[in-house]
Amino acid sequence: DTLISQIAAGEVVERPASVVKEVLENAIDAGAQAITIRLEEGGCQRISIQDDGFGIAHQQLHLAVLRHATSKIKSLSDLESVASLGFRGEALASIASVSRLSITTRTAEDDHAWQIQVNGGETVGDVSPSSGSVGTTIDVQDLYFNTPARRKFLKSATTELGHCLDVVRRIALSRPDIGFAIWHNGKVIERWSAGNIEQRVDAILGQEFHESRIALESTSGVLSLRGFISKPTASRARADQQYSFVNGRFIRDKVIQHAIRSAYQDVLHGDRQPMVVLSLEIDPQLVDVNVHPAKTEVRFREGGAVHQFVYKAIQNALSTGGG
Ligand code: ADP
Ligand code: MG
Repeated sequence: DTLISQIAAGEVVERPASVVKEVLENAIDAGAQAITIRLEEGGCQRISIQDDGFGIAHQQLHLAVLRHATSKIKSLSDLESVASLGFRGEALASIASVSRLSITTRTAEDDHAWQIQVNGGETVGDVSPSSGSVGTTIDVQDLYFNTPARRKFLKSATTELGHCLDVVRRIALSRPDIGFAIWHNGKVIERWSAGNIEQRVDAILGQEFHESRIALESTSGVLSLRGFISKPTASRARADQQYSFVNGRFIRDKVIQHAIRSAYQDVLHGDRQPMVVLSLEIDPQLVDVNVHPAKTEVRFREGGAVHQFVYKAIQNALSTGGG
């Protein structure tokens, strides 16, 4: 099963940023209010993520690292309308198969924490008493230590750190109500306290966007879009500042990207790199989120209608607030 897990890990754990994503999603599913992310060497050496969520009962702890052990889906019909971020029950097992992973966790009922250690998919020793407050810390060291061919594909610490930060930014933008702190090599590099969406957008996208953003809010039938978009300008210092979310999940979608670009081009004949933070809510029945294991892609049942809706909403916002 270790080999199967290592193969599966290739799907789920492409690089340190994939670990960060999966572990953060679990923390959020556990109701965390504050999350601390500690990275060493861009996450290649160590990724330690501490949450204050509801923890894992120590009787269940050995199950958490088994493949297809998910506590989040009880029936096939749940697959149709998945509310939690995780539902495949393979992330922790995959990560554990290609790293030295420890879980330290404590529920509100426990009077102390419990810990499990898994090295390259093999559990080391028993679930044992540990210390710590209510919540969970997942510590992932030496990613790919036992799969050297994969380890070779890791880029520099700087590059991997960049990917990790991208992941945290996306998640943090979707959950401004959760506080985040990020450490790298022993120093705090970001700290976003819990607040509202404006505060979070300002903290992450910065002053330039703060000064130029237009608020957008539009609803039509089963579709609703809200967020912030930049006033068009001729030049933009930073590219790739487009964050779109579908039902709370960061996604990369051609239909939405195309609608954004067309609206900017058609309304103001410019700005191929607008900055946007847009959140689309759609009936879950009309979108398939399970296209890709990493889940940054979706498939709309009616892409044309989504395109038209997003295009119109942006066009409207630009012509009324674009000045
Ligand atoms: P999934 O999220 O798809 O259920 P994972 O492999 O990511 O599968 O996690 C396995 C299980 O471990 C989860 O279903 C959950 O029960 C438990 N778990 C993992 N991380 C946490 C956490 N931070 N807090 C509480 N429970 C967790
Ligand atoms: Mg998960």
